[in-house]
Amino acid sequence: MMVRHVLGISGGKDSAALAIYLKEKYPELKIDFYNSDTGCELEETEQLINRLESVLGHITRLKAAQGSPEPTPFHHFYKSSGGYLPSPQARWCTQKMKLAEFEKFVGDAPTVSYVGIRGDEEREGYVSTKPNIQAIFPFRRNIWSMEVINKFLHNDNIDRLIDIYEMVCANKILEQATKIIKTPLTKQFYYSKKLNALLDLDVKIFNRAVLAFLKTTDYPVGKLDYFPLVENEDVLDINDIYQILENSGVGIPAYYKPIEFEVDGKKGTYNRSRSGCYFCFFQQKIEWIWLYEQHLDLFQKSMEFEKDGYTWNQGESLADLIKPERIRQIKLDAIKRQENKAKKESNSLLIDMFADDSDFCANCFI
Ligand code: SF4
Repeated sequence: MMVRHVLGISGGKDSAALAIYLKEKYPELKIDFYNSDTGCELEETEQLINRLESVLGHITRLKAAQGSPEPTPFHHFYKSSGGYLPSPQARWCTQKMKLAEFEKFVGDAPTVSYVGIRGDEEREGYVSTKPNIQAIFPFRRNIWSMEVINKFLHNDNIDRLIDIYEMVCANKILEQATKIIKTPLTKQFYYSKKLNALLDLDVKIFNRAVLAFLKTTDYPVGKLDYFPLVENEDVLDINDIYQILENSGVGIPAYYKPIEFEVDGKKGTYNRSRSGCYFCFFQQKIEWIWLYEQHLDLFQKSMEFEKDGYTWNQGESLADLIKPERIRQIKLDAIKRQENKAKKESNSLLIDMFADDSDFCANCFI
């Protein structure tokens, strides 16, 4: 059966690195690269996508609300929502401008969607829940989604799992694997413990077992004759990502590059931590200050959206955020956070200075 392979290029470093990595390591996978354009990205994002296109080949640009008289898809949906700004609790922007377009692009064909969550991250991301789309995470030790793992390791599946392991597993680890599989999930021995115990034993065998299980389901990967990722044991962290981008000549998106600032005689740096819309409500206060000081025009455009009591940040308007005393405080706070983080991550080649574990969006930021 024809199964599609797709990879969304968000304009961020991780999806860019994943696209290059898969293209180089698995040229036999015919991946359709796409980007969802909100019309409100930074210029640096557009530049990155153009550079990537010269390495990857064609990247399909998906744009919602085609034919609308509004200047950008965001303006279109903002107007139709009656001026209601999106927020982490009401994230209509991702749904309407990205997920809906992506799902249209994919249609009903069984599809494998590659997602660039790194091996050093503890998160799943916000991905499509359409049953014909299966997310795969090639940078992690566990390449499968939690949904697949939950079904695979479910207590009701123990007998089937033993049969599968007998089929794919060499004798020398079969005894240990069987012992782990037979141990039911409990509050003490929960999914991630069982998952890690089997991965510790042998990653490739685990992957082959999951693939054999998927063959008995409707998941897109199960419909493939050949899926090379099951033999992949690479785990890539942030330093690997930067390396891939540098080595390919694509480079790091310019907005990630730290710019120095000084406040009360103390020095710090700021940059933007993520791709996405310039006004994204997920950005941290120091990133808003970066936008104000480095892209004043975009900051002013963001301010124009704040009307009738709606603000991008809860409880604080952008006009209040740029009062001199407030800027000073935000910068001092950022310096303190950077000092703490630098102590913890002194081994990193480049520190992911502003990354945090907030409920982020795989469609926008990876
Ligand atoms: S980048 Fe932010 S504002 Fe833009 S679509 Fe994604 S979540 Fe919404």
